[in-house]
Amino acid sequence: MATLIKSTQLESSNFAYIELSEKTLQKQLTILFPFSGMICAIIAFTYFVSNVPVNFTFSAVIGMVICYTLSVINKYKINPYLLIWVFIFSTTAACALGFYADSSRHISNTIGLTIPLLCFFALQQKYAWWYSSLFGCFYIVLGVAEVSDKQLQITEALQNISAYSIVVIMAYLLARHRNEAIARVKQTATTDFLTGLHNRSGLLPIYQSESARSQRYLRDFSMLVLDIDEFKAVNDRYGLHAGDQVLMMLAKCLRENTRKGDHLARIGGEEFCLLLPETDIIAAEEFASHLKDEIASWSLELESGHNVSITVSIGITPIEFQEYSFDYIKAESALHRAKSWGRSQIAIS
Ligand code: GH3
Ligand code: MG
Ligand code: MG
Repeated sequence: MATLIKSTQLESSNFAYIELSEKTLQKQLTILFPFSGMICAIIAFTYFVSNVPVNFTFSAVIGMVICYTLSVINKYKINPYLLIWVFIFSTTAACALGFYADSSRHISNTIGLTIPLLCFFALQQKYAWWYSSLFGCFYIVLGVAEVSDKQLQITEALQNISAYSIVVIMAYLLARHRNEAIARVKQTATTDFLTGLHNRSGLLPIYQSESARSQRYLRDFSMLVLDIDEFKAVNDRYGLHAGDQVLMMLAKCLRENTRKGDHLARIGGEEFCLLLPETDIIAAEEFASHLKDEIASWSLELESGHNVSITVSIGITPIEFQEYSFDYIKAESALHRAKSWGRSQIAIS
C-alpha cells in the first residue's frame, strides 16, 4: 500500500545546544521570577505591619515589581542569561541597600542570595548544586531558630525564611537546568541531528554490547547497510532542503518498520546501518526485502507540490563478532554488489 507523507509532517531534531539550553533556562525562570515576586510581596507585607521605617516596605515592593517585570519580559524570549544577571544585580543591590540601613539583618541575605548564583555561573561545578542547597538549608534552619528566639518578631523570622527559600529554589532550578543541558549534550553527540536516529558514535557502543550478548548466548545477529539510490539526483532536482526531508521520511519509514530491539543509525550522508539482534541471515534477507518494498511505496509531498519517492540498495552480513569495522566493510561490499546489479537490489556477504 502506498504511503504519502506531507513535508509538514516531518520534524527534524535539528537543534543547537545553546538554543536548547536557553529554552530550559527560560522555562525555569517562569517559576523563579513569579516565586521571587511572591516572596517580595510577603516581605513587603510583613514590613508594612511591623514597626519599621516605611522605606523598608518600599524597597520590598520595588523588588516585587522587578521580579514580576522580569517574569513578563521572559515571556518575550529575551536572552534568559541577561535576565538572570539583572535579577542577581537587583537582589544584590537591594540586599546591599538594606545592609546599609540595618547591617544586622541584611548581611546574611546578601550572601545567601548571591553566592549560590555566582558559584553556579562562575564555577560551573558539579558541586555548585550541593553547595547552594547547603547554604539555603542552613539559612532556613537559621530562620526557624529565629522564630523560637523570643527577642525576634515572628514577622522578621517569616521575612528571613521567605528570602532564604529563594536560595533553595534557585539552586534547585539552576542545578536542574545544568543537568538537563549536560544530558542533552551527551545525546547530541550520539544522535544524528537531522533524523534523530543514532549517529556512528551512538551505534558503536550498541554494536559492542549487542555483539557481546549474542556471542555469549550463541544468538544470531545481522547487520544491514542501506543506501539511497541516485540520491544526488533528488538534491539536484528539488534542492538540498527537499533532500533533507527525504532523509527524514526514510528515517520515519525505518522506525515504523523495525522491531523494538532493532537499532537504527544514519552513518553517512544517505547511508544507514541497521543492527538486527536475534536475526539470522535468512530472516534478515526477508526483512530487507520487505523494507525495500515498503520504502519504495512511500512518497513525500513537497511544499512545491511535487511527489518524491526513492529506492534503496541493501547489503547484509551476519555479524562475526570481530569488530564493527570488520562487519561494516563486509556489509558495504555487499551493498556495492547490490548497486552494481542495477540498484534497488539486496546482496549478502
Ligand atoms: P548511488 O545510487 O550510487 O548511491 O548514487 P547517489 O547519488 O545516491 O550517491 P552519491 O554518493 O553519488 O551521492 C550521494 C549524495 O548524497 C551526495 C550528496 O549531495 C547527498 N547528501 C549527503 N548527505 C546529505 C544530506 O545530509 N542532505 C542532503 N540533502 N543530501 C545529502
Ligand atoms: Mg546513494
Ligand atoms: Mg552513499
